[in-house]
Amino acid sequence: MTTYPALHDNIQQIQTTIAEACVRSDRKPDEVTLVAVSKNHPASAVTKAYELGIRHFGENRVEEAQQKIPQVTSILAQSNQPPPEWHMIGHVQSRKSKAVISLFNAIHSVDSVKLARRLSSLACQVDTTQPILLQFNVSGEASKYGFSAHNWRQSDAVKSALWHEIEQICEMPNLYLQGLMTMAPYLPNPEATRPYFAQLRQLRDALRADFDLTLSTLSMGMTNDYAIAIEEGATLIRIGTALFGEP
Ligand SMILES: *Cc1c(COP(=O)(O)O)cnc(C)c1O
Repeated sequence: MTTYPALHDNIQQIQTTIAEACVRSDRKPDEVTLVAVSKNHPASAVTKAYELGIRHFGENRVEEAQQKIPQVTSILAQSNQPPPEWHMIGHVQSRKSKAVISLFNAIHSVDSVKLARRLSSLACQVDTTQPILLQFNVSGEASKYGFSAHNWRQSDAVKSALWHEIEQICEMPNLYLQGLMTMAPYLPNPEATRPYFAQLRQLRDALRADFDLTLSTLSMGMTNDYAIAIEEGATLIRIGTALFGEP
């Protein structure tokens, strides 16, 4: 059985890094939520992190989450503890969208109008309001999911097409658009990721100005680059490897 002996120290190390990044950017550490990415790690890793105070977990595959989330809920229920909040951070295939509505508190990876429409109609059916984030591809890498936000400032055509998509999503019932999410490219020098995070923040500011939206969440930053993401305004960081080690 895996025991994750370094988890306690890893959490402390991450909290120190968060605090230092907040000092550098004149922010408060409580503006930054740590989401522990538990993909490829068992329910026991989640409950151990929970014991150490972590209350937000991220998963990227529906099948894995369908197994793990009920396991975690039942382990915690044995000691009368409420479940944590679960964040879906991976691409959602259309045929899996029904499952994600009931499993996840927030879906970070809404990457098309079509998926948003499907989630809206499923949320209607079960009479719930589903918090979502829109995932943006700000780097233009072909391998990344997300609404293309590459060049939105340089090209009016790109911007108006994007704004039109967001307008459609805003009109959909039973969705709550909480914010934006992105993944920076993996770059050996984390400092080089800064422009991607700055772009997501600028996009958020532009959408705030043009739509009646609060967009309070900026989900950005992973093991390699979260300090930079925080300096650029991240309110939620998604950390796997720095917490649980390599799966
Ligand atoms: C796996 C994953 C993470 C965590 O990555 P680490 O580099 O292990 O911290 C964050 N976000 C998404 C979308 C992921 O798939």
